[in-house]
Amino acid sequence: MRDPKIVIIGAGVAGITAGVIFKQAGFENFVIVEKGSDVGGVWHWNRYPGLTCDVPSQIYQFGFAPKPDWSQIWATGGEIQRYHRDVVEQFGLTDHLSLNSEVTEAVHGADGWTVTLAGGREIKADFVIAATGVLHHPFTPDIAGIDRFTGAVVHTARWDDAIETVGKRIAVIGSGSTGVQVVSALQPRAAKLTQFARTPQWVLWAPMGLPQPRLLAELLAAAPAAHQRLYSTLLWSSGILADIALKPTWRRRAAQQLARWSLITQVRDRRLRAALTPDDEPFCKRQVLSGTYHRAIGAHNAALVSDAISEITETGIRTADGTHHDLDVIVFATGFHPHNYMRPMNLRGRDGLSIDEAWAKGPRAYRMTAIPGFPNLFTVLGPNSPTGSISLQYSAELTARYITRWLKRFRDNEFDTVEVTEEATVRFNDSVADAMGPTVWNTGCNSWYFTEENTIDLWPFDRKTMDTLLTEPDDRDYLITHQDGTLS
Ligand code: NAP
Repeated sequence: MRDPKIVIIGAGVAGITAGVIFKQAGFENFVIVEKGSDVGGVWHWNRYPGLTCDVPSQIYQFGFAPKPDWSQIWATGGEIQRYHRDVVEQFGLTDHLSLNSEVTEAVHGADGWTVTLAGGREIKADFVIAATGVLHHPFTPDIAGIDRFTGAVVHTARWDDAIETVGKRIAVIGSGSTGVQVVSALQPRAAKLTQFARTPQWVLWAPMGLPQPRLLAELLAAAPAAHQRLYSTLLWSSGILADIALKPTWRRRAAQQLARWSLITQVRDRRLRAALTPDDEPFCKRQVLSGTYHRAIGAHNAALVSDAISEITETGIRTADGTHHDLDVIVFATGFHPHNYMRPMNLRGRDGLSIDEAWAKGPRAYRMTAIPGFPNLFTVLGPNSPTGSISLQYSAELTARYITRWLKRFRDNEFDTVEVTEEATVRFNDSVADAMGPTVWNTGCNSWYFTEENTIDLWPFDRKTMDTLLTEPDDRDYLITHQDGTLS
């Protein structure tokens, strides 16, 4: 029997899940290295005003850590961050954590993995689990004059509480989920709020500030079995979301009609409504939800600017039509580099193969978790993860359990290295490409779901298919080496 030494990179949703599932399966010899100063991943890095999860909290939680007493149906970022901290403590992960530990390099050699942290510390491991997340490298566009601005500049994913926004002239650049939330939060107390939205997005009305009834919390706390049933029911009913995304049925058309109806009923001003009407289909991009945005952007102190930004000056933003907008604060709600995953770390697998070489044609993995050329390395919430169609926590739990199957076999001396084959990866990615055809994501919008190679980095199957693909590893899809050097 061996005790596999594991390095989990990242202490967000994916890393916490991996830690808990490994522990529950009897694997204790792991460290979770996290570059941030706290756990939570996106919920640690994102602290901008108005941050609210657009997935109801009774389903945006770990299956192994039900929380009965969320204060809102859609919880705020701060409460979700505290939940992650509590889960880490409750499940005994604290002693496994190494915070402020950025991995700069992970190299596979004859004696397994060597993971190097910024500062030079090296950790040897039998397995590396890349739980590095998707939305954590902020993207700030390179707009001419950006360094000239004398006011405050901030990206939403690196919010600075010292920035004064009350009574200020604020620009918010971007119209995605983040832009919509931050506009709604800052508008009421701004002197003027101008949103630079070169591409409007459909905003589906939802009462995001709705409190979760206290009685419900008490009932769920008193009856854990009922709570588990509620979670399972929510998981099951979220299949409707996957169905809307995957198939062009009446359900998709009805949901799209709701988004159009939200705009028509919420925005009476015809010019503003025209400016807010996207060219693409609702749900093609990650659907934005808000109960406050349309009111905020129509307020007397708010303005929507659709013209492209031509430059940033010392005192504001100039748009292509020559108008200068005087400003005190510029907020970049311009999203992320979503396809970086574990990069820019120097990750090298078999024969020195770098992740940049392996992903020269874009990020790809086998069933979200294994990459050819990288033995004993698995990703949790890696390429093709189901952002927005299936619960991420569920997907991470399933993947982590799948990985434990390999950990158990390693513990039992059944192999030394396991690496997915190129053929199996190509086969899986071909099936992904085929299945993307009828999805709503493929109806002609320009979203962050697309990689530079024009593939869609999402999960185009339903949850049942995910269960099937990630329950038991199929040895035929893997190269397995044994201690005596034999291959199977
Ligand atoms: P995003 O959806 O990628 O939106 C980025 C915005 O920035 C777009 O409107 C984009 O315009 C604009 N932009 C980029 N470069 C620009 C430029 N040079 N000039 C003007 N505008 C520019 O990013 P996000 O809003 O941060 O959301 C990313 C994802 O994070 C979401 O889809 C969601 O999955 C997640 N999120 C979730 C929550 C939640 O509640 N759970 C909250 C926030 C975010 P174009 O469309 O024209 O490129």
